[in-house]
Amino acid sequence: MILSQALSRIAPSSTAAMSDRAFALREAGRDIISLSVGEPDFATPAHVIASAKAALDAGDTKYTAVAGTAALRKAAALHYARDLGIAVPPDRIIVSAGGKQAIFHALVATLDPGDAVLIPAPWWVSYPEIVRFAGANVVPLETSPAGGYRITPDQLEAAITPKVRWLLLNSPGNPTGAVYSAAQLQALGAVLARHPHVLILSDDIYAPLRYLPGRHATIAAECPDLADRVLTVSGLSKSHAMTGFRIGLAAGPEWLVKAMGKLQSHSMGSPSTPSQAAAVAALEGPQDFLADWCAVMRRRRDMVVSAVNAIPGLSAPVPDGAFYCMVDAAPHMARFGDDQALCLHLLDAGVAVVPASAFGGRDGFRISFAAADTILEEALRRIAGAVA
Ligand code: GLU
Repeated sequence: MILSQALSRIAPSSTAAMSDRAFALREAGRDIISLSVGEPDFATPAHVIASAKAALDAGDTKYTAVAGTAALRKAAALHYARDLGIAVPPDRIIVSAGGKQAIFHALVATLDPGDAVLIPAPWWVSYPEIVRFAGANVVPLETSPAGGYRITPDQLEAAITPKVRWLLLNSPGNPTGAVYSAAQLQALGAVLARHPHVLILSDDIYAPLRYLPGRHATIAAECPDLADRVLTVSGLSKSHAMTGFRIGLAAGPEWLVKAMGKLQSHSMGSPSTPSQAAAVAALEGPQDFLADWCAVMRRRRDMVVSAVNAIPGLSAPVPDGAFYCMVDAAPHMARFGDDQALCLHLLDAGVAVVPASAFGGRDGFRISFAAADTILEEALRRIAGAVA
């Protein structure tokens, strides 16, 4: 076996690993409820499917421009303005195979060994691994449930050194559900304004899934003076139940979008052509169902959080966005050893969840509540039985 140093520095995605494990056990005949990978259970809207079919029938089965079709980049510009409050021309937008690939390309295109990247912890599993793959160092910014899992301006100021190249922000956040208000982003922006060498990656993939009143706030819109060093990542996987279409979007400064395109021209070529047609329909078509989906997720959140808090030794704060619940299981750790062992025990009981340590946390696990109510109820019964 011959592995590069870059690959040796990283671990496989824990969310993908747990989901694969659940698939394999199911194929072997086991009854497994998978609340591991974050994937909405809703059906992709019919008009989106129709658009993908129409594209196939029309022969849209060939390469497109590396950065995506003109039609999709135009629809994406509409999305950035309408949904995120960011005015950006289509030529500063790049389409990728899921938001994950846009993040990968942005970081790999800009990081050198010795650079540092600030990541609020708990974090989404792939952020630190991509940073390490690029040879840079991860600087965790620890957050807590008491602080709403948000970093503070003082914490940010104290962490910035000449080596810091990026700050990663994710609101609503995976796995914590943390949501930053406009005022909180402006306060972070005031710190960043003093450090022009720091780029900001804002991952807004969960923007429509907020359970607080008011509009979504994002740093490129709240801090226009920073906009020329912000990359805002978005997509359709979570909002429009299109995970399998693999379409992500990123909007940022021209030099960065070009750099990402240079890498993309050698890694992927161009995004899937029928998926791009589907994405145009998703972005330009009706958006009213998003509020209904959000209300369903909110109901599930309330149900899951109260059921978790009713299980002795488990507790969870109420997430303000996304569809994850971070469960603290510290009182059970003496019995299980660590959260990985606990998750294997839960898997044995028929529920797949992801250990908190995969997200830079500890002594707990993440539940994705993007599943039907009856499935969630059964999963929580199994979890309660397994930890009892
Ligand atoms: N972002 C989702 C999750 O955290 C999908 C899986 C992944 O890409 O990690 O579960």
